[in-house]
Order: sequence, then structure tokens, then C-alpha cells
Amino acid sequence: MIAGFSALHDGSGRATGSELAGAASATRTAVRTRLDDLLTFPVLVGSGLITLNNFGGRSVSSGACAHRGIDIFPTDDVPRVLVSCIDGVLDGQRILEGSQGNAWVLRDGDGVSYRYHHVGEFEPGLEVGSVVRRGDVLGTMGSTGNAGNAHLHFEVRPDGTGANAIDPIPLLPFPIVGVVLGAPTGCS
Ligand SMILES: [Zn+2]
Repeated sequence: MIAGFSALHDGSGRATGSELAGAASATRTAVRTRLDDLLTFPVLVGSGLITLNNFGGRSVSSGACAHRGIDIFPTDDVPRVLVSCIDGVLDGQRILEGSQGNAWVLRDGDGVSYRYHHVGEFEPGLEVGSVVRRGDVLGTMGSTGNAGNAHLHFEVRPDGTGANAIDPIPLLPFPIVGVVLGAPTGCS
């Protein structure tokens, strides 16, 4: 567990506290760590999605073992809708800045940041500072930056820095209908 992110939560991400303590029917463990709460899958789930299990794999820009996120592809190359994985705030918007292409950066109340790279179109009406809820539409995936095909590069950074990024796979609610999870790729 990562120090500094402990909080009272239930499985839905809502704070619990004394409600749970007094509930005779409660069978859940009352105390969870923030990063144990599963994220909403960051792409609208339909069908034909594959999630590469490539955290720590090869990065096109940085080389072997340097991929700090995971890549989510549509098998038919038709860009899908991106949705918020958390309740939080849009903390940054990058427009065609190098390899990452267009990107949204979200931040939750604990300071964890979630990055969406290679965005095709940003959802109209959203801007830095906008409050978003889980499942809110953020835009569409695309192939901006160094993406060969339309996909989402998704990162989770507990303290905001890339060096301390963590594997998003254990934080996502797999198995997910319509989403194939690949085998871990290793460093290459
Ligand atoms: Zn990637």
C-alpha cells in the first residue's frame, strides 16, 4: 500500500466511516486504501476492445521497460469514447505536446493523477478545472502524438510523477465484458 492514501471507503468509492461501523449487516472490511478502490474503465465499454498488459514494457519514445501505462485499442481501429475513471477534476490539458499527443490529466481528491494520451477530440465544454464524475465523457481516443493507430495510453500516477507511475491493471474491474486483457508483455 502506498503511504498517505489511506482513507475510509467502501467498494463504490464513497466515504463510509460511522455508517459502516454501526451496520449489523456489514460484511465488508471498513478500512480500505484509496488505491484499492477499483477505477471505472477509462473507455466506454461496448465490444471489440483489447487492453495490452504492457505496463513496464517497451515505450516507443523511451525504450525497453519504460512504458509507464497501458494501451487500450479498438480491434476495428474505430476510435472509442473516453470516460472518466474517477470522481475528480480535470487538472491539465495538453495539446500535441510531443509523443503523448493530445492529453487529459485528471486528479482525484487524494492527489492521484490519471493520464489519457493520444486523445482525438476533447469533449466540448470541458476545460482545466472542470469537475467530472465517473463515466463522464472526456472525448474520443485518437492517434495524436506517436500513436500508430487510434488507442488510449492510460497512466496512474499516485504522486503525479511519471517515475512513480503504477500498473493500472490491478485497479481496473477485470474481467470486463467486451474487453480482452492481454498477457503481460514483459520489458519488450
Ligand atoms: Zn502507451
